[in-house]
Amino acid sequence: MSEVYDYAGGFGERAAVSLANPGLRRSIATATDLQTGNRLAGLTSLKDPEAMRALGAQIRASVMSRLDEHLERLAENWTVAGGQVFFAADDKEASSYVCSVAERAGVRTVVKSKSMASEEIALNTALNGAGIEAIETDLGEYIVQQDGGHPSHIVAPAIHKSKEDVAELFSAIAGEPLPVDTVALMKFARGVLRDKFLNAEMGVSGVNFAVADPGVICMVTNEGNGRMCTSLPPVHVAIMGMERLVADWDQLAVMLALLARSATGQKLTQYTSLLHGPRHPGEADGPEESHLVILDNGRSKLLGTRYQEALHCIRCGACLNVCPVFRQVGGHAYDPVYSGPIGAVLNPLIKGTKEAGELAHASTLCGACTEACPVKIPLHDLLLRLRQDYAREAAGRAEHLAYSGWSHAWATPARFRAFGRLGALLGRLTGGRPVHRLPVPPLSRWTRGRTFPGWPSSIYRDRK
Ligand code: SF4
Repeated sequence: MSEVYDYAGGFGERAAVSLANPGLRRSIATATDLQTGNRLAGLTSLKDPEAMRALGAQIRASVMSRLDEHLERLAENWTVAGGQVFFAADDKEASSYVCSVAERAGVRTVVKSKSMASEEIALNTALNGAGIEAIETDLGEYIVQQDGGHPSHIVAPAIHKSKEDVAELFSAIAGEPLPVDTVALMKFARGVLRDKFLNAEMGVSGVNFAVADPGVICMVTNEGNGRMCTSLPPVHVAIMGMERLVADWDQLAVMLALLARSATGQKLTQYTSLLHGPRHPGEADGPEESHLVILDNGRSKLLGTRYQEALHCIRCGACLNVCPVFRQVGGHAYDPVYSGPIGAVLNPLIKGTKEAGELAHASTLCGACTEACPVKIPLHDLLLRLRQDYAREAAGRAEHLAYSGWSHAWATPARFRAFGRLGALLGRLTGGRPVHRLPVPPLSRWTRGRTFPGWPSSIYRDRK
């Protein structure tokens, strides 16, 4: 059943919910081990994986340096192909645009292919609010939606669920017991979804990459549901973060090689779909209307800053699988949408450090995420920078005073020595005993999870 996470609360409280659930931790550890093993094996099929990563990083940087030109070309080419483009400044603008398209077309049911951007704009809630049913058709997303929760991993949304959990969930929907058997459970989901595909009036998808020239969007999936969502309903809406661009086919080839291997260890995913506007004369299928929503939502303000590299992310999920924090607490401890190291970077940048800055502390800074990233995003450096910003913003007057006093006290060798001697006196008075519980807040918070070491009774400089 769905675990209850309080997104108004802090990371610590949500992490505690996960840590108290051994089944969830087992599922996450098994799945992330498997994904990491697959990634490492997948990379061996490249002649020079490191050179490929360097090329990937270079491509992402070059796209960002001319993002406005690429976006303009993409919009132009998509429009020439008969599609419509909407630039959304934020999540609300994006979701209300999709709702207005649906309402105008008299849509009652929307089938959705996996899209983190649609999670970011809370599209399902907006569609439901307009009286429109939105159904997730990626198996993992479908499980999460039926469970009333949120995805816990960028690539594998139901990573926290075991097949026993899914059997229990689907049995409740079916109204009869279903076996704990993955094939039978998939068959059940397929049966439910088939009808939805055939009757939906609108399909919504994400975009893995948009190719500015010739104005094509590329989607990679392993289940085929993406193709159904984008070719069966008469209206298709694709939602993309404004940074999910490449300039041309050559760059796309590099990105696809890195994405599939880093996400699942495959050379290519089962389906790589290229879409170029609505159905053209003579084509057997495809939508009559095709909309491309290009989402900013805080991205453009990162361009040219020391956080720009966060926009290089291609959402492969590799950094989540190797992160020792994610592997213990899973995705729900971070945020309903983006989790793991990249979530700990993106959420504070998109939502602001005040709202989500504490996530930058959800890391050991071991650097495993940076090493795994196929486009060499220095994730642990970005986390450190965010911690600086967060500390600066979150510190109250008393903290500012304490630190400037400290800095003043240690500014000369004489003062530094005097403070050391004061500490040694404290050590003699307390007998050098460690303190398990400091009684006064905020220090008491510090000793909740660790012991304050005993003060030494002499200073290092005085030791012979
Ligand atoms: S930050 Fe790198 S490793 Fe993490 S999801 Fe993005 S591209 Fe993948």
